[in-house]
Amino acid sequence: MVVRTRFAPSPTGFLHIGGLRTALYAYALAKHDGGDFILRIEDTDQKREVAGATEALQKILQKFGLQWDEFYIQSERQKSGIYQKAAEKLVEEGHAFYCQCEARNAHTDGYSTVLRDPCRDKNLTSGAIKLRVPDNETISYHDFAHKKDISWDSNTVYDATLLKSDRFPTYALAAMVDDLDMKVTHILRGHDWLPSTPIHLLVLKYLGGDMPKIGHLTDILSAETGKKLSKRRDSVFCEQFLEQGYLPEALLNFVALLGWAPKDNRELFTLPELVEHFDAKGFQDANPRFFLDKLKWFNGQYLRKKSDEELLPFIRQQAPKDASDKLLLQIIPLVKTRISLLSDFATLANFFFTRPVGVTLSGEDKSYLKVAEVVLKTCDWTKEGIETKLLESVKANSWKNMGFFAALRLATTGAKVSPPLTESMLILGRDETLTRVAQGLSR
Ligand code: GLU
Repeated sequence: MVVRTRFAPSPTGFLHIGGLRTALYAYALAKHDGGDFILRIEDTDQKREVAGATEALQKILQKFGLQWDEFYIQSERQKSGIYQKAAEKLVEEGHAFYCQCEARNAHTDGYSTVLRDPCRDKNLTSGAIKLRVPDNETISYHDFAHKKDISWDSNTVYDATLLKSDRFPTYALAAMVDDLDMKVTHILRGHDWLPSTPIHLLVLKYLGGDMPKIGHLTDILSAETGKKLSKRRDSVFCEQFLEQGYLPEALLNFVALLGWAPKDNRELFTLPELVEHFDAKGFQDANPRFFLDKLKWFNGQYLRKKSDEELLPFIRQQAPKDASDKLLLQIIPLVKTRISLLSDFATLANFFFTRPVGVTLSGEDKSYLKVAEVVLKTCDWTKEGIETKLLESVKANSWKNMGFFAALRLATTGAKVSPPLTESMLILGRDETLTRVAQGLSR
């Protein structure tokens, strides 16, 4: 059996971090077995649709390397009448019925949450189509992510709407028709779908075909509040994180471990490595917490793994437009071990592009700088040349290295913390370094 999974987002805007996790797990589950990963856009609820969202979604999934093998858009499939036909078949076979309630009750939006719908025995021949839930049955399945059997008493399951009166299918119909039609073997989805699973199980059974396995993922909790991540309180969209300077690989690795764990304690996984090690047994039951520091740690790891050339396009986004590749490639090795976020680059490396302003130096600092100025004017302009001569003059004055170099660092970089000083001065060049020292002395 070929494993076939799908990621089935509704195009409502940006990609939620939980959505990325679902997509990643579905991808890894399929690819681990050499199977197929399907991207299906669930856009039959047209009110919720945002223009351009489908393209944006495809783009960002590709940024993470989650390339799909097949692509479907439900609103396109809808045109062939596939959902309507399926609903009508269920009516014919006695598993669904026509209902005209919502025409009188527009605010229900075509969805029913009535346990036993008054229309179910009216033998109507047009209207919305609803599921005829059987009485006194146990509806159950084995959740392959939670690794347990879950069941419901059918008497608690409501006659859900399958096809609305505008002929658009609800999720319960469209997703199940598609999962069967696309021969999905494993449905992996968010926890919020668990309560409506008995409806989906009935629909799958009545439609007939190979029953997919179903797994529900845990909720991702905020580390601060312990509550489900909220769009209002927390950063939850992948686009936001990428903009803040996180690398796609780091974000991907981070979410991989939010609810799944390998057999050992390994933490670093590239996508191909995750695919290789992925195993549904690793899904965890406890809701994971989103620790931003951990994400930063992953980001630092991936930043350092990249070669300077690989980092160049990311760093370029953080640097002034006119900075040359050559200059950036000189700076990158000095900063890449010192940043955990790409956006830290601007803070740490800004002095290469703009002269520091508003630095105040003490009288003592200035006496150091006077000496440094003389040395820097004449020494060999190499790492060794600069360092030997500066150290000699510190010694000759019986000063301490620390205070001397702190003053020089402050004058040239404008900060107390910076990339290595000599290397930085070499990049700035002798003239620019001396200009900065003179500027420090004149204030
Ligand atoms: N369209 C559903 C959503 O966006 C997908 C749920 C599923 O994966 O089946 O939540």
